Amino acid sequence: MKYEAVIGLEVHAQLLTGSKLFCGCSTKFGSDPNTQVCPVCLGMPGVLPVLNRKAVEFAVKMALAVNCRINPRSIFARKNYFYPDLPKGYQISQYSEPLAEHGHLDIDADGTKKIGITRIHMEEDAGKLLHGEGPEDENFSFVDPNRTGVPLIEIVSEPEMRSSDEAQAYLRAMRDILVYLEICSGNMEEGSFRCDANVSVRPVGAEKLGTKAELKNMNSFKFVKEAIDYEIQRQIDVVEGGGKVVQETRLFDASKGVTASMRSKEEAHDYRYFPEPDLLPLMVENELVEKLRGALPELPRQKRERFISEYGIPSYDAGVLTSSKGLADYYESVVKATNEPKVSSNWVMGEVLRLLKEDSRDVKDCPVTPQSLAGLIKSVKDGVVSGTGAKEVFEEMYRTGKSASEIIKAKGLVQISNEDELSKVIAEIIKANPENLERYKAGKTQLMGFFVGEAMKATKGKANPQVINKLLKEKLG
Ligand code: ADP
Ligand code: ZN
Ligand code: MG
Repeated sequence: MKYEAVIGLEVHAQLLTGSKLFCGCSTKFGSDPNTQVCPVCLGMPGVLPVLNRKAVEFAVKMALAVNCRINPRSIFARKNYFYPDLPKGYQISQYSEPLAEHGHLDIDADGTKKIGITRIHMEEDAGKLLHGEGPEDENFSFVDPNRTGVPLIEIVSEPEMRSSDEAQAYLRAMRDILVYLEICSGNMEEGSFRCDANVSVRPVGAEKLGTKAELKNMNSFKFVKEAIDYEIQRQIDVVEGGGKVVQETRLFDASKGVTASMRSKEEAHDYRYFPEPDLLPLMVENELVEKLRGALPELPRQKRERFISEYGIPSYDAGVLTSSKGLADYYESVVKATNEPKVSSNWVMGEVLRLLKEDSRDVKDCPVTPQSLAGLIKSVKDGVVSGTGAKEVFEEMYRTGKSASEIIKAKGLVQISNEDELSKVIAEIIKANPENLERYKAGKTQLMGFFVGEAMKATKGKANPQVINKLLKEKLG
């Protein structure tokens, strides 16, 4: 029998507000443990939460970017459970009335596929447990509550993905949007962008969904794919072996590449959800929604399509260039100054990204401004410097911050395009090689390469090859 995988994703994204969701504590990542806490986020008796307006605006922006309807009224709820990283003994979340519903996201999968977004709700993060690994503390776990109360949105998809590749495409698209909106760092290693994958299998053609397992603990796109692929095969093996998939939560072990059962699946009623009595319903006015909608930036997909149609560059180029907003802006500035979309794309995708990657630098810290790069591209076009020489110049610009013309001069890389000067060089070469000239004239036209090579040698590689070729053709007839 043939099987089909069914995947639904729950994404948690940390919002880049300066302070937490219900108190004024900092959300900064990586500070010393227990330094960003107060009675509110530590769950002391008698304190009251105050909702962070910025967090609501960020959540609404994301909801609009993925085509959700914003509920004018939503309710915070207490989700009760005990865990050492949860000082209050409950998490403030949203349950029956979330902030937003009924959205969708287009992903790249054999063309474009529309994946439904069930809901987006707001909630607070829990603290972090650090499990000792050293010889002295291997039997201990540590609690760092700096993260308690950091604002999150949870984005729940419909079970509409059919492969690990689609799941990966969905996650990438989701993360790109969050980062473009500048509301989430998207950093998976730091846990700012996390995902749980719900996976089931069913016979091809069946309508009814199979029993799902929920996979946790995947902190890279690669692990998400590996975990899902492993889980699909595991479930198929269970079914083929005459067994039944049980509903459970499974952890991915990246070092072994397997998923293992963590606990049987908890049900909503286990959490004893009830409306948070310390917070009023959240009313989001239409005026605010429309204001935020109007201020949405161009999103990655739209930008990619515009680059293809406006600049006529291949879709591969457009994909790379729009992978971050900063890179896209950089590219557009270069094009504006050069009016050479494809040449500019080659430079940005090639030399610029290569050097930035080498230094793990962000494009916003690129030492070569788009204007300087444009200057260099123009120098190549005008024949001032050769294409190969220009790469050397660019590297030097990147290292020293000097301008293209300064370096071209200092390094003696100025290309010779002057026809009179080059004609003299050619005349001498022809004079020095009478036999080759005879053979050329007798029909051995491949010798053109020989003459070009001699001319380049004579000028120490500075001759403009196009001009040399043109002059030689004239001279040799
Ligand atoms: P639960 O109540 O167990 O949390 P939900 O209905 O809230 O389940 O769905 C959680 C996530 O699991 C959603 O992303 C949904 O698309 C996905 N999902 C639900 N049923 C299945 C299934 N049978 N197979 C795969 N994913 C599923
Ligand atoms: Zn606090
Ligand atoms: Mg759920």
